[in-house]
Amino acid sequence: SIVVLGSTNMDLVAYVTKAPARGETVTGRAFRTIPGGKGANQAVAAARAGGEVAMIGAVGADDFGYRLRDVLEHSSVDTDLLRTVEGPSGTAHIVVDDEGGNAIVVVPGANATVTSLTAGDEALIATARLLLLQLELPLSVVVEGAAHAHARGVRTVLTPAPAQPLPPELFDVTDLLVPNEHEAVALTGRTDPHAAALALLDAVPEVVVTLGAAGCLYVARGAEPLTVPAPRVRAVDTTAAGDTFVGALAVALAEGLPMPDALTRAGTAAALSVRREGASISMPYRTEIDAALAT
Ligand code: ADP
Repeated sequence: SIVVLGSTNMDLVAYVTKAPARGETVTGRAFRTIPGGKGANQAVAAARAGGEVAMIGAVGADDFGYRLRDVLEHSSVDTDLLRTVEGPSGTAHIVVDDEGGNAIVVVPGANATVTSLTAGDEALIATARLLLLQLELPLSVVVEGAAHAHARGVRTVLTPAPAQPLPPELFDVTDLLVPNEHEAVALTGRTDPHAAALALLDAVPEVVVTLGAAGCLYVARGAEPLTVPAPRVRAVDTTAAGDTFVGALAVALAEGLPMPDALTRAGTAAALSVRREGASISMPYRTEIDAALAT
């Protein structure tokens, strides 16, 4: 199975012509609530791609918490170890302007309460094939979870987002690092993704840098770098493309596919998701991924 140790967030999105300056009030065009959080997005993506997936994290004791849990359960993600804690769910307050620019405030809420693993979490992780992690939970529990998995031979896949410096003890227990171009640059100071990917091999054995419409780049110690182009699609909404990619990649790896084939599947799933609006709602099911690969 695949276990996700990560965040749940409700995205509260206001669409405006021009974002307000400090002290200013503007009238928005539209408002949407979009269930997300990188952890939940990866869990839904993996479950829809055909994986058996469980989510460890927390939602708040509020309406958003009910909805966030519901979205996961609707995609058949096991939420037995998703806690409901006092206080608000995680929220992201997003203002999107007419030029597609955005300003975002993230309030971690319930996510901040996940500071360590329970005995139940440890037992579940120990039985998994892969553990997926991101950086929207407290760093202490990310390190603890990755270390626990790594010590038991469970492959750890880390999405280093939001971009921030990582402690060496986290690199030490990461088997596969999957930054986007921006994160790869932030982690290494190298502006060329190739150079950044190779620099990261000093810290972890395998790296996939996602390159948006250009696909992805895979490097591993002692192997030739591999570039996998993305299918050409008309992009409508690239929200959570990276999470869709990681979720589908995890399923393919858990099923034992070789890395090049797993990357092709992941790229196909991500391309399908960018053709549709929304975050988790836009993620493709296994039958759609299979159909797209067959054409
Ligand atoms: P993130 O969503 O984390 O910023 P990327 O933008 O690199 O990450 O996108 C992740 C993956 O999603 C890419 O590697 C690619 O496979 C796919 N993808 C993203 N944008 C497009 C696009 N415009 N066309 C096709 N595939 C895309």
